[in-house]
Amino acid sequence: MNHIQQDFIQKIMKQQQQEKHQQVKQEENGQKQNIQVQYFSQFVQYLQKQQLLSIIQKCQQQQQPIQQATKFPSLIEVQNQVTSYFQQIILQKQIININNVFDQQLPYFLQIMGNLIIYGLENCSGEKEIVQEIIAQYKSNPLKITMSCSLFQTIGLLFRSQLVYYDQCTKYLSNFLLFRDEFCDIFFNTLYSYQMTHGQTFSQQIGFTQIHQMIQKTQEDVWTAFIFKMMSQQQQKMTKDMFLLQFNQYTVLMNNFFTKSNLIMDLVAQSVKQTSKLHNDQIFQEYLLIMGSFKATTQDFLKKATQVFFEESNDLDLLQFSSNIIKIHKQMNCQILFILPMLFQLESQYLDHLVQNGIQDQQPVKNSSNYYLKMIEKLKNKCVYNGEEECDCKKCQCIRRNRNSAKESQKKKREALEKIGPLQDEYDKIKKKVQSLEKENQVITKLLLDVFRHPSLEKLASQFIEPLTKIIADQEFYNIDEC
Ligand SMILES: [Zn+2]
Repeated sequence: MNHIQQDFIQKIMKQQQQEKHQQVKQEENGQKQNIQVQYFSQFVQYLQKQQLLSIIQKCQQQQQPIQQATKFPSLIEVQNQVTSYFQQIILQKQIININNVFDQQLPYFLQIMGNLIIYGLENCSGEKEIVQEIIAQYKSNPLKITMSCSLFQTIGLLFRSQLVYYDQCTKYLSNFLLFRDEFCDIFFNTLYSYQMTHGQTFSQQIGFTQIHQMIQKTQEDVWTAFIFKMMSQQQQKMTKDMFLLQFNQYTVLMNNFFTKSNLIMDLVAQSVKQTSKLHNDQIFQEYLLIMGSFKATTQDFLKKATQVFFEESNDLDLLQFSSNIIKIHKQMNCQILFILPMLFQLESQYLDHLVQNGIQDQQPVKNSSNYYLKMIEKLKNKCVYNGEEECDCKKCQCIRRNRNSAKESQKKKREALEKIGPLQDEYDKIKKKVQSLEKENQVITKLLLDVFRHPSLEKLASQFIEPLTKIIADQEFYNIDEC
């Protein structure tokens, strides 16, 4: 542990102590609004410091084996120096202004991240000769850039804290999926590989190349491999228990993502309020489709997947997983497991769209954003369990109650009608009407599934919207009664 880091930890702990005292006091002092706002911002700062503390601890664990390293500083040592430099900036709340040094065209977030790393290298305390060599290599090919876990997480925290400035779009990176607290670890743990760097040290590194491949998706199996690694926790084989556990965690994670504020969601909301050219219907549609698919098919997918994946054996490797996943996604007419990479790609595309088209051009107002916002808000409240026994949330309880009472009242009606003979004809008419309604419902469901069948979702979005509206309307119909 070096002096600066020791100092950080002491400072952070002291501040945490103070904040805890203040929290207790404030809780006693009642709940005036301004105090709550203050309390909230302090809480955010407190969270940031806690995240920083955990990164520093990880950083130290990584540094330990290097003590006996070679006479040449390895890449990871240089990375640790950059990490420490960035951590100081976070504590001091400085703003970093960066310039573009790359000729190569990259997705916006990679371009900014790469330039930030160059900036860190230029300013860190590492041995100049080695550092210059690394910078030259990165400048000529930014896809060679790699990051240790602590560097990657610190960069995420820098963006979340909005301490990096390149242009007016940089602020959107604070909510970008890759940099979010809950996704940083997932992306690192899934995408890292072991790399030998200068000297003989091996370290876990996440590379620009791997991240870039996730966005480009030039090979079909990039996402499959990503999801397999994520669900198997980088093991060779995935067992059924692990699949169930990980799928459940994945569902919770994605559900939180859709519920809380996120990049696209915020921009939809913003473009409703403002009249700027912020919106892009195609991207909003795609977001809505991904969200709708997630909300509508998660539980069916789980049933189907456990059946197809684990019917014959109790575990599967990447190869079996790949062929089965294609089968299931085709049968289900949706790509539910790919939701995370899809959103990652979509957010990146949207950022590039914002950068290319500018955000200040005033254009005549389009009302479509309003429509998307309404749809997204409605979908937010839909529970993925859709009333199934496994879930005990309010929505599911309510759906179950309504289903039961609907059944109950139907039964009563039937009994009453059967008792009264002369009304038999009337009863038959109602029965027919129920049947035709049920048929109509089946048609709608089929329509929805048809849309999912096509891989190019965006082209079919408009067809999908209507049946989706209907489903949501049905959902509301269920909920109106008692909820
Ligand atoms: Zn539920």
